[in-house]
Amino acid sequence: MKVTEHLERRKGTLFSFEILPPLKGKGIEAIFEGIDPLMEFEPPFINVTYHREEHAYKKYPNDMLKRISIRKRPGTVGICAAIINKYKVDAVPHLICGGFSAEETENALIDLHFLGINNVLALRGDPIKSETTFVPDEGGHKFAEDLIRQIVGLNKGRYLHEESENKERTDFCIGAAGYPEKHYESMNMKTDLAFLKQKIDAGAEYITSQMFYDNEKFFAFTKKCRDMGITVPIIPGLKPITSLKHIAFLPKTFHIDLPDALSDALVKCKTDAEVRAVGTEWCIAQSKELMKAGVPCIHYYTMGRSQAVRDIAKAVF
Ligand code: FAD
Repeated sequence: MKVTEHLERRKGTLFSFEILPPLKGKGIEAIFEGIDPLMEFEPPFINVTYHREEHAYKKYPNDMLKRISIRKRPGTVGICAAIINKYKVDAVPHLICGGFSAEETENALIDLHFLGINNVLALRGDPIKSETTFVPDEGGHKFAEDLIRQIVGLNKGRYLHEESENKERTDFCIGAAGYPEKHYESMNMKTDLAFLKQKIDAGAEYITSQMFYDNEKFFAFTKKCRDMGITVPIIPGLKPITSLKHIAFLPKTFHIDLPDALSDALVKCKTDAEVRAVGTEWCIAQSKELMKAGVPCIHYYTMGRSQAVRDIAKAVF
Protein backbone atom coordinates (compact mmCIF):
# COMPACT_ATOMS: atom_id res chain seq x y z
CA MET A 1 0.00 0.00 0.00
CA LYS A 2 1.12 3.56 -0.56
CA VAL A 3 2.22 5.82 2.29
CA THR A 4 -0.56 8.24 1.39
CA GLU A 5 -3.14 5.43 1.63
CA HIS A 6 -1.88 4.51 5.08
CA LEU A 7 -2.16 8.15 6.11
CA GLU A 8 -5.70 8.45 4.71
CA ARG A 9 -6.92 5.28 6.47
CA ARG A 10 -5.33 5.94 9.84
CA LYS A 11 -7.43 6.08 12.96
CA GLY A 12 -4.89 8.01 15.02
CA THR A 13 -1.28 9.09 14.69
CA LEU A 14 0.81 6.39 13.01
CA PHE A 15 4.23 5.25 14.12
CA SER A 16 6.95 4.77 11.50
CA PHE A 17 10.69 4.62 11.59
CA GLU A 18 13.76 4.85 9.45
CA ILE A 19 16.67 2.45 9.44
CA LEU A 20 20.14 2.49 7.93
CA PRO A 21 21.56 -0.45 5.99
CA PRO A 22 24.25 -2.11 8.14
CA LEU A 23 27.93 -1.55 7.42
CA LYS A 24 29.15 -3.67 4.53
CA GLY A 25 29.94 -7.20 5.66
CA LYS A 26 27.13 -7.52 8.20
CA GLY A 27 24.16 -9.78 7.61
CA ILE A 28 20.45 -9.07 7.38
CA GLU A 29 20.05 -10.30 10.99
CA ALA A 30 21.61 -7.01 12.12
CA ILE A 31 18.65 -5.26 10.48
CA PHE A 32 16.02 -7.61 11.86
CA GLU A 33 17.43 -7.22 15.40
CA GLY A 34 16.81 -3.48 15.12
CA ILE A 35 13.31 -3.86 13.66
CA ASP A 36 11.95 -6.72 15.82
CA PRO A 37 11.56 -4.65 19.02
CA LEU A 38 9.61 -1.97 17.11
CA MET A 39 7.06 -4.20 15.39
CA GLU A 40 4.67 -4.21 18.36
CA PHE A 41 3.90 -0.56 17.50
CA GLU A 42 2.54 -1.69 14.13
CA PRO A 43 4.44 0.56 11.76
CA PRO A 44 2.57 0.57 8.43
CA PHE A 45 5.81 1.36 6.62
CA ILE A 46 9.54 1.41 7.33
CA ASN A 47 11.98 3.74 5.59
CA VAL A 48 15.42 2.55 4.50
CA THR A 49 18.09 5.17 3.82
CA TYR A 50 20.38 5.21 0.79
CA HIS A 51 24.10 5.85 1.17
CA ARG A 52 26.13 6.87 -1.80
CA GLU A 53 29.72 5.98 -2.46
CA GLU A 54 32.68 7.74 -0.89
CA HIS A 55 36.04 8.19 -2.53
CA ALA A 56 39.30 7.19 -0.89
CA TYR A 57 42.88 6.65 -1.96
CA LYS A 58 44.41 3.20 -1.56
CA LYS A 59 48.19 2.86 -1.39
CA TYR A 60 49.74 0.01 -3.37
CA PRO A 61 53.14 -1.63 -2.56
CA ASN A 62 54.85 0.40 -5.31
CA ASP A 63 53.67 3.59 -3.52
CA MET A 64 51.11 4.26 -6.21
CA LEU A 65 47.87 5.79 -4.97
CA LYS A 66 44.70 4.64 -6.62
CA ARG A 67 41.35 6.36 -6.17
CA ILE A 68 38.74 3.86 -5.11
CA SER A 69 35.05 4.18 -4.64
CA ILE A 70 33.54 2.60 -1.50
CA ARG A 71 29.93 2.22 -0.46
CA LYS A 72 29.96 1.55 3.25
CA ARG A 73 26.25 0.85 3.57
CA PRO A 74 24.97 -0.81 0.40
CA GLY A 75 21.79 -2.86 0.21
CA THR A 76 18.85 -0.44 0.44
CA VAL A 77 16.70 -2.23 -2.14
CA GLY A 78 17.50 -5.73 -0.86
CA ILE A 79 16.68 -4.68 2.70
CA CYS A 80 13.34 -3.24 1.56
CA ALA A 81 12.47 -6.54 -0.12
CA ALA A 82 13.54 -8.48 3.00
CA ILE A 83 11.39 -6.23 5.23
CA ILE A 84 8.30 -6.70 3.06
CA ASN A 85 8.86 -10.43 2.96
CA LYS A 86 9.47 -10.91 6.70
CA TYR A 87 7.18 -8.36 8.33
CA LYS A 88 4.45 -7.91 5.69
CA VAL A 89 4.67 -4.13 6.03
CA ASP A 90 5.51 -1.60 3.34
CA ALA A 91 9.05 -0.41 2.83
CA VAL A 92 10.03 3.04 1.65
CA PRO A 93 13.43 3.07 -0.02
CA HIS A 94 15.20 6.41 -0.20
CA LEU A 95 16.40 7.24 -3.67
CA ILE A 96 18.92 10.01 -4.20
CA CYS A 97 20.18 12.02 -7.18
CA GLY A 98 23.85 11.85 -6.16
CA GLY A 99 25.85 9.12 -7.86
CA PHE A 100 23.09 8.27 -10.33
CA SER A 101 22.67 9.12 -14.00
CA ALA A 102 19.05 9.36 -15.14
CA GLU A 103 19.48 5.94 -16.78
CA GLU A 104 20.69 4.37 -13.54
CA THR A 105 17.79 5.99 -11.71
CA GLU A 106 15.39 4.50 -14.21
CA ASN A 107 16.92 1.05 -13.76
CA ALA A 108 16.67 1.35 -9.97
CA LEU A 109 13.00 2.32 -10.28
CA ILE A 110 12.33 -0.62 -12.61
CA ASP A 111 13.91 -2.94 -10.01
CA LEU A 112 11.66 -1.49 -7.29
CA HIS A 113 8.62 -1.82 -9.53
CA PHE A 114 9.39 -5.49 -10.23
CA LEU A 115 9.77 -6.10 -6.50
CA GLY A 116 6.32 -4.64 -5.88
CA ILE A 117 7.72 -1.64 -4.00
CA ASN A 118 5.58 1.38 -4.82
CA ASN A 119 6.86 3.95 -2.33
CA VAL A 120 9.95 6.11 -2.74
CA LEU A 121 11.34 9.02 -0.75
CA ALA A 122 12.98 11.18 -3.44
CA LEU A 123 16.03 13.14 -2.28
CA ARG A 124 18.94 14.98 -3.73
CA GLY A 125 21.59 13.65 -1.31
CA ASP A 126 24.45 15.62 0.23
CA PRO A 127 27.74 16.53 -1.45
CA ILE A 128 30.37 13.81 -1.06
CA LYS A 129 33.17 14.63 1.40
CA SER A 130 35.63 15.72 -1.29
CA GLU A 131 33.16 18.27 -2.72
CA THR A 132 31.97 21.49 -1.12
CA THR A 133 28.80 21.72 -3.17
CA PHE A 134 26.55 19.06 -4.60
CA VAL A 135 27.71 17.94 -8.05
CA PRO A 136 25.35 15.68 -9.98
CA ASP A 137 26.76 12.76 -11.92
CA GLU A 138 26.92 13.22 -15.67
CA GLY A 139 23.37 12.96 -16.90
CA GLY A 140 22.11 12.92 -13.33
CA HIS A 141 19.71 15.21 -11.49
CA LYS A 142 20.70 18.42 -9.76
CA PHE A 143 17.68 18.70 -7.47
CA ALA A 144 15.19 16.32 -5.90
CA GLU A 145 12.52 18.06 -7.97
CA ASP A 146 14.13 16.68 -11.17
CA LEU A 147 14.17 13.17 -9.71
CA ILE A 148 10.50 13.55 -8.76
CA ARG A 149 9.70 14.55 -12.36
CA GLN A 150 11.44 11.43 -13.65
CA ILE A 151 9.45 9.19 -11.28
CA VAL A 152 6.20 10.90 -12.26
CA GLY A 153 7.15 10.35 -15.90
CA LEU A 154 7.63 6.63 -15.28
CA ASN A 155 4.25 6.55 -13.54
CA LYS A 156 2.86 7.79 -16.86
CA GLY A 157 4.78 5.13 -18.84
CA ARG A 158 7.47 7.57 -20.00
CA TYR A 159 10.81 5.77 -20.18
CA LEU A 160 14.07 7.41 -21.23
CA HIS A 161 14.99 7.27 -24.90
CA GLU A 162 11.71 5.61 -25.86
CA GLU A 163 9.42 7.17 -28.41
CA SER A 164 6.24 5.46 -27.32
CA GLU A 165 4.49 6.26 -24.05
CA ASN A 166 2.48 3.08 -24.35
CA LYS A 167 4.61 1.18 -21.84
CA GLU A 168 4.15 -0.42 -18.43
CA ARG A 169 3.29 2.34 -15.96
CA THR A 170 4.84 2.31 -12.54
CA ASP A 171 2.73 3.46 -9.60
CA PHE A 172 5.10 5.10 -7.15
CA CYS A 173 3.92 7.19 -4.25
CA ILE A 174 6.58 9.86 -3.91
CA GLY A 175 7.68 11.55 -0.70
CA ALA A 176 9.96 14.59 -0.41
CA ALA A 177 12.09 16.06 2.38
CA GLY A 178 11.17 19.27 4.20
CA TYR A 179 13.20 21.30 6.68
CA PRO A 180 11.46 23.02 9.62
CA GLU A 181 14.71 24.92 10.26
CA LYS A 182 15.38 25.39 6.49
CA HIS A 183 17.85 23.46 4.36
CA TYR A 184 21.40 24.60 5.14
CA GLU A 185 22.15 25.71 1.56
CA SER A 186 19.07 27.88 1.21
CA MET A 187 19.28 31.65 1.36
CA ASN A 188 16.33 31.77 3.69
CA MET A 189 13.15 29.99 4.68
CA LYS A 190 11.16 31.75 1.98
CA THR A 191 13.24 30.40 -0.91
CA ASP A 192 13.51 26.97 0.70
CA LEU A 193 9.73 26.75 0.97
CA ALA A 194 9.31 27.95 -2.61
CA PHE A 195 11.52 25.06 -3.76
CA LEU A 196 9.62 22.67 -1.51
CA LYS A 197 6.42 23.80 -3.19
CA GLN A 198 8.02 23.10 -6.57
CA LYS A 199 8.69 19.51 -5.42
CA ILE A 200 5.04 19.12 -4.48
CA ASP A 201 3.86 20.70 -7.73
CA ALA A 202 6.18 18.30 -9.58
CA GLY A 203 4.40 15.33 -7.99
CA ALA A 204 5.55 14.66 -4.41
CA GLU A 205 2.55 13.49 -2.40
CA TYR A 206 3.76 13.97 1.16
CA ILE A 207 6.62 15.54 3.08
CA THR A 208 8.82 13.91 5.72
CA SER A 209 10.63 16.45 7.84
CA GLN A 210 14.19 16.71 8.94
CA MET A 211 14.59 16.06 12.68
CA PHE A 212 13.85 18.98 14.99
CA TYR A 213 13.79 19.46 18.76
CA ASP A 214 11.47 22.45 19.04
CA ASN A 215 7.89 21.63 18.10
CA GLU A 216 7.12 25.32 17.65
CA LYS A 217 9.47 25.30 14.65
CA PHE A 218 7.57 22.39 13.14
CA PHE A 219 4.20 24.04 13.75
CA ALA A 220 5.47 27.30 12.18
CA PHE A 221 6.86 25.36 9.21
CA THR A 222 3.56 23.54 8.70
CA LYS A 223 1.64 26.80 8.87
CA LYS A 224 3.93 28.45 6.31
CA CYS A 225 3.50 25.43 4.03
CA ARG A 226 -0.29 25.63 4.33
CA ASP A 227 -0.29 29.42 3.79
CA MET A 228 1.56 28.98 0.51
CA GLY A 229 -0.79 26.27 -0.73
CA ILE A 230 1.10 23.10 0.18
CA THR A 231 -1.74 20.79 1.16
CA VAL A 232 -0.04 17.36 1.25
CA PRO A 233 0.47 15.51 4.57
CA ILE A 234 3.53 16.58 6.53
CA ILE A 235 5.17 13.89 8.68
CA PRO A 236 7.38 15.17 11.51
CA GLY A 237 10.74 13.44 11.95
CA LEU A 238 12.14 12.93 15.46
CA LYS A 239 15.48 11.61 16.62
CA PRO A 240 16.08 10.94 20.31
CA ILE A 241 19.43 12.17 21.59
CA THR A 242 21.05 9.17 23.27
CA SER A 243 24.76 9.81 23.71
CA LEU A 244 27.28 12.52 24.57
CA LYS A 245 28.55 12.23 20.99
CA HIS A 246 25.11 13.14 19.65
CA ILE A 247 25.19 16.52 21.39
CA ALA A 248 27.78 17.88 18.95
CA PHE A 249 27.17 15.50 16.06
CA LEU A 250 23.46 16.10 15.44
CA PRO A 251 23.50 19.93 15.19
CA LYS A 252 26.67 19.86 13.06
CA THR A 253 25.51 17.12 10.71
CA PHE A 254 21.85 18.03 10.34
CA HIS A 255 22.06 21.81 10.73
CA ILE A 256 19.54 21.96 13.54
CA ASP A 257 19.33 23.91 16.81
CA LEU A 258 18.56 22.55 20.23
CA PRO A 259 16.19 24.68 22.32
CA ASP A 260 17.60 26.26 25.50
CA ALA A 261 15.66 24.04 27.90
CA LEU A 262 17.09 20.93 26.21
CA SER A 263 20.67 22.21 25.95
CA ASP A 264 20.52 23.38 29.61
CA ALA A 265 19.63 19.82 30.65
CA LEU A 266 22.20 18.21 28.33
CA VAL A 267 25.18 20.28 29.47
CA LYS A 268 24.71 18.87 32.97
CA CYS A 269 25.01 15.27 31.70
CA LYS A 270 28.26 13.44 32.34
CA THR A 271 27.46 10.01 30.90
CA ASP A 272 25.68 8.54 27.90
CA ALA A 273 23.07 7.12 30.27
CA GLU A 274 22.26 10.60 31.60
CA VAL A 275 22.05 12.01 28.06
CA ARG A 276 19.80 9.17 27.05
CA ALA A 277 17.43 9.79 29.94
CA VAL A 278 17.16 13.50 29.05
CA GLY A 279 16.89 12.82 25.29
CA THR A 280 14.23 10.14 25.72
CA GLU A 281 12.12 12.27 28.03
CA TRP A 282 12.36 15.20 25.60
CA CYS A 283 11.35 13.05 22.64
CA ILE A 284 8.38 11.61 24.56
CA ALA A 285 7.18 15.14 25.35
CA GLN A 286 7.64 16.18 21.71
CA SER A 287 5.76 13.10 20.50
CA LYS A 288 2.84 13.66 22.85
CA GLU A 289 2.47 17.28 21.81
CA LEU A 290 2.66 16.42 18.11
CA MET A 291 0.03 13.70 18.53
CA LYS A 292 -2.21 16.12 20.37
CA ALA A 293 -1.82 18.50 17.44
CA GLY A 294 -3.09 15.72 15.15
CA VAL A 295 -0.02 14.92 13.05
CA PRO A 296 -0.76 11.94 10.75
CA CYS A 297 2.35 9.97 11.63
CA ILE A 298 5.60 10.36 13.56
CA HIS A 299 8.73 9.26 11.75
CA TYR A 300 11.51 8.22 14.13
CA TYR A 301 15.09 8.23 12.95
CA THR A 302 16.70 5.18 14.57
CA MET A 303 20.17 5.68 13.05
CA GLY A 304 20.96 2.10 13.99
CA ARG A 305 19.68 2.36 17.59
CA SER A 306 16.16 1.17 18.07
CA GLN A 307 16.08 0.78 21.87
CA ALA A 308 15.50 4.47 22.63
CA VAL A 309 12.81 4.68 19.94
CA ARG A 310 11.16 1.64 21.53
CA ASP A 311 11.12 3.32 24.95
CA ILE A 312 9.52 6.40 23.42
CA ALA A 313 6.95 4.46 21.42
CA LYS A 314 6.06 2.47 24.55
CA ALA A 315 5.36 5.68 26.39
CA VAL A 316 3.21 7.27 23.71
CA PHE A 317 1.59 4.70 21.39
P1 FAD B 1 16.47 19.46 -2.73
O1 FAD B 1 15.01 19.52 -2.51
O2 FAD B 1 16.95 19.27 -4.13
O3 FAD B 1 17.08 20.80 -2.13
C1 FAD B 1 18.49 20.97 -2.02
C2 FAD B 1 18.80 22.47 -1.91
O4 FAD B 1 18.59 23.09 -3.16
C3 FAD B 1 17.92 23.22 -0.92
O5 FAD B 1 18.68 24.25 -0.34
C4 FAD B 1 16.80 23.78 -1.78
O6 FAD B 1 16.22 24.95 -1.23
C5 FAD B 1 17.55 24.08 -3.07
N1 FAD B 1 16.73 23.89 -4.27
C6 FAD B 1 15.80 22.95 -4.48
N2 FAD B 1 15.28 23.07 -5.72
C7 FAD B 1 15.94 24.09 -6.30
C8 FAD B 1 15.89 24.70 -7.59
N3 FAD B 1 15.02 24.25 -8.51
N4 FAD B 1 16.73 25.74 -7.85
C9 FAD B 1 17.59 26.19 -6.91
N5 FAD B 1 17.68 25.66 -5.67
C10 FAD B 1 16.87 24.62 -5.37
N6 FAD B 1 20.45 11.80 2.27
C11 FAD B 1 20.99 10.66 1.77
O7 FAD B 1 22.06 10.70 1.15
N7 FAD B 1 20.35 9.46 1.91
C12 FAD B 1 19.15 9.35 2.55
O8 FAD B 1 18.61 8.25 2.67
C13 FAD B 1 18.56 10.53 3.10
N8 FAD B 1 17.36 10.49 3.73
C14 FAD B 1 16.77 11.64 4.17
C15 FAD B 1 15.50 11.59 4.73
C16 FAD B 1 14.86 12.76 5.17
C17 FAD B 1 13.47 12.69 5.77
C18 FAD B 1 15.54 14.01 5.08
C19 FAD B 1 14.91 15.27 5.59
C20 FAD B 1 16.83 14.07 4.52
C21 FAD B 1 17.45 12.91 4.05
N9 FAD B 1 18.72 12.92 3.43
C22 FAD B 1 19.26 11.76 2.94
C23 FAD B 1 19.48 14.17 3.37
C24 FAD B 1 19.24 14.96 2.06
O9 FAD B 1 19.69 14.22 0.97
C25 FAD B 1 20.00 16.28 2.21
O10 FAD B 1 19.39 17.09 3.18
C26 FAD B 1 20.25 17.03 0.91
O11 FAD B 1 21.22 18.05 1.18
C27 FAD B 1 19.02 17.74 0.35
O12 FAD B 1 18.11 16.87 -0.15
P2 FAD B 1 16.67 17.37 -0.69
O13 FAD B 1 16.03 16.21 -1.29
O14 FAD B 1 15.97 18.13 0.36
O15 FAD B 1 17.19 18.36 -1.86
